[in-house]
Amino acid sequence: MTDTRVTSFVAASYVRDLDRSRTFYRALGFEELLTGRNDVSAWSSLQHDGHRILLATSQPPLDIPRLPLHFYFFVEDLDAAMAAVGATGAVVEHVGYPPHALGGEAKTLDPDGNTVLLGQPERSPSQTDVPVTDPADQFSLLRETAALAKKLREAAALAQHRAGADRACQVGEVDGRACPRPAEIKLADAWGDTAWACIPHAEEALISAPGAFIANDDDQGLGPFLAQRRRP
Ligand SMILES: [Zn+2]
Repeated sequence: MTDTRVTSFVAASYVRDLDRSRTFYRALGFEELLTGRNDVSAWSSLQHDGHRILLATSQPPLDIPRLPLHFYFFVEDLDAAMAAVGATGAVVEHVGYPPHALGGEAKTLDPDGNTVLLGQPERSPSQTDVPVTDPADQFSLLRETAALAKKLREAAALAQHRAGADRACQVGEVDGRACPRPAEIKLADAWGDTAWACIPHAEEALISAPGAFIANDDDQGLGPFLAQRRRP
C-alpha cells in the first residue's frame, strides 16, 4: 500500500517586494536555499529546520486578496522573535496569552500587509506572573477575520438600541455549561432558527455553521413588508 502521508510541505507566498519580504522572514530564522528570476517572476526558497517558505513575485503583480491570517509561527522565545522582527521595521504588538500560546502571542504584518502571528507555546521559567487570557479571547486567531469582527461590532451596537443589555448568551460552552457572557448578537438561519449569542460565540457559530447569519435589526426584514400587506 502506498503511504500517502505528507513528509514535508512548502508554504508559498506571492509578495510585492522580494528583498523586503526576504529580510522579514530571515528575522524569524529562515535562510535562503535557492533563488532565481526570469522575465516575469522572481522567487526565493527559504528554509529553517524542516520548515520551508517560497516567496515569489510576478510581473505584472497578481491581484491577491488580503488574508486575515497568513502564517502562524510558534517560537521558543517570543521576546527575542518580537525584537528580531521589529528590527526589520515591522510593528509588533503583544496580544496576550491564549491557551495555545501560554508564553505569549504577538501580531505583526509582513511587508505585504499579511497578518503574521507569533506564539510561544509554553511559559518560560521567568514567566511566573503571567495572566491567563480570558476564555472570551480564545478565538483570537479567528478574531483576525477583521471583516467579521467589524460586522459583529456593528450588529452588537444596533442590537443594543433595541434589546437592552440584560439578555444572556443562549449558546453553551463546549463542556455544556451555560455561557456567563451577555448576548449581543442575534443569529439566524434560513429555516428560522435563532439564537442570541455573546460575541465570541457568535463568531464561533458563524464560522462553524456556514448557513448562519447575523439577524440585523434593520428595516430590510420580512416584518415591515408583511405589515404593509396585512394592513386592512
Ligand atoms: Zn456565549
